[in-house]
Amino acid sequence: MHEMAVTQSIFSTVLDYAEKNDASRVLKVNLKIGKITGVVGDCVKFYFEVMSKGTLAEGARLEIEEVVTKARCYSCGQEFEIKDNFDLVCPNCSNFGAEILSGKELFIESIEIERNLVENQNRAD
Ligand SMILES: [Zn+2]
Repeated sequence: MHEMAVTQSIFSTVLDYAEKNDASRVLKVNLKIGKITGVVGDCVKFYFEVMSKGTLAEGARLEIEEVVTKARCYSCGQEFEIKDNFDLVCPNCSNFGAEILSGKELFIESIEIERNLVENQNRAD
């Protein structure tokens, strides 16, 4: 799957942010992953752990929120949750075809870092 490429871009964003903000380490990364993206959270966690070894992000906790896929029927306007990515049949009117409303998300919601205050004070002196 494409988890490795996805994790690579998440990782570089996190590291970039940590470096720009004088972080001593990254504590936590909150991610939102839409189910329809097909990205497996556990794979992202695994790759992140591997990539972050020896960096500011080593040991950071990855919090992944999976967003369910919601769609609106083209025919009757009924909103429903898609359990299977290929099942776009409306439960109300049985029409096939719906607009995807949510679940395509794939982004970093927030990053929590720890700043090394002592080191910063020494540097100021
Ligand atoms: Zn319908």
